[in-house]
Amino acid sequence: MRTLPGDARTDSRIREVLGACYSRIEPTRVAKPELLAVVPEVAALVGLDPTPTPELADVLAGNLIVPGMVPYAACYGGHQFGTWAGQLGDGRAITLGEVTHDGATWELQLKGAGPTPYSRRADGRAVLRSSLRELVCSEAMHHLGVPTTRALSLALTGEPVMRDLLYDGHPAHEPGAVVCRVAPTFLRFGNFEIHTARDDKATLQQLVDYTLAAFFPGMSVAEMFHEIMLRTAWLMSEWMRVGFVHGVMNTDNMSILGLTIDYGPYGWIEPFDPDWTPNITDASGRRYRFGNQPAVAHWNLAQLARALAPVADLDALRATLDAFPREFSQHYRATMLRKLGLPGTHGGDDALLAELADLMSHVETDYTLLFRRLATTHPTFESVREAFYANPDRARVEAWLATYAARDRDTAGMLAINPIYVPRNYVVQRVIEAVEAGDRAALPELLDVLRHPYDERPGLERFAAKRPEWARVKPGCSMLSCSS
Ligand code: AMP
Ligand code: MG
Repeated sequence: MRTLPGDARTDSRIREVLGACYSRIEPTRVAKPELLAVVPEVAALVGLDPTPTPELADVLAGNLIVPGMVPYAACYGGHQFGTWAGQLGDGRAITLGEVTHDGATWELQLKGAGPTPYSRRADGRAVLRSSLRELVCSEAMHHLGVPTTRALSLALTGEPVMRDLLYDGHPAHEPGAVVCRVAPTFLRFGNFEIHTARDDKATLQQLVDYTLAAFFPGMSVAEMFHEIMLRTAWLMSEWMRVGFVHGVMNTDNMSILGLTIDYGPYGWIEPFDPDWTPNITDASGRRYRFGNQPAVAHWNLAQLARALAPVADLDALRATLDAFPREFSQHYRATMLRKLGLPGTHGGDDALLAELADLMSHVETDYTLLFRRLATTHPTFESVREAFYANPDRARVEAWLATYAARDRDTAGMLAINPIYVPRNYVVQRVIEAVEAGDRAALPELLDVLRHPYDERPGLERFAAKRPEWARVKPGCSMLSCSS
């Protein structure tokens, strides 16, 4: 990034940053850093000793800049809820620098590290609940096998942060926190959009040249776009496989590496419902509902194509864009059939899948538990009963099971792609409440469970159980806001 044009100013005064890809800015010191978690496997990735020393706490909370770090906030724009929003940028994320270890280069970024030129009207900080949610979910995603940014650490700042949780006029103080995230790059679609929106082809060209050299070596711009399209299609299919709803798929929250990025008001499908979104900010239009994510990804890719148009072959961009729906559908169909253990070569396979989707739309059915419980040699009504939130049409379920059980299925393969432990909304909320109450064991315990999501173990039933009735309408469980 240092080779790219940067902002001439280095203060945090809110401003439009023109002709630049980033602004040099340091984290703002916090009162009392306390490390709640250092993820050992991410520490190993970047070659860091995970022992939680006071010095490490200082670095990971933004109080200590060590030699070699060149902190900056990136400049980007984005389409939010379908509308061009202009300059957004890292309003509370500050990249400390890059580390090369074992031949791979990683960007280390603090989220919640204080104001930057992109903070607009906000405070540059993050609260414990949203920071913990980011740490837990990014690590869970990684172990599920879904492309994602990683999380190295979670630190309390010892400073309160004021938030209106439900945007209903009841602001309150919450504990502040900082997450250190790790990825090859945090570049988003919006990093490119901003320069094209400003008609700044020179800066766009420099950013594109850097991106090609660093992440898509040997490719043309059109080939890079094709690769991003392929990765995004795969990512959408993977989100559907595990039941993840991102919640805010704005173009500034779309990674050019096809990673899950910016965990905010995300949620996990408990009762299967393609129309569900956890994000109450999106309650009316439900743009970012579970089943709409592939279509939104396609729309977002169209915005990226527009951003790249000044420096790429237009016909090639268009052809790539047109190829997205088929690319996604192929992955999605293959994935859903694999979830059922079916090879997809039998004429009745697609009908079985369609009938199952219809069954799940008639009675609230736990998506994770259902597929997991089908992964047995002789599935019966008894083996799947646990997945239903209400009484299903038993005759119909049994009729489906009879056809299904007669097929030759790959149950070992099913157990390897249908997780038993996902970061269920209510489970994570319970851990947040425990940590807020001073419990220091609940978070490491949850991270341990999610480290082996396909490996069902006795004693962990409470992490796999379907959503209890109390969690149906509880904030943090089925309703989340962008307030974080
Ligand atoms: P998000 O909805 O989290 O993707 O954020 C959208 C934009 O708002 C990004 O530019 C963020 O950096 C910015 N933003 C969100 N929360 C804050 C905050 N507390 N302080 C400063 N900027 C923020
Ligand atoms: Mg964002």
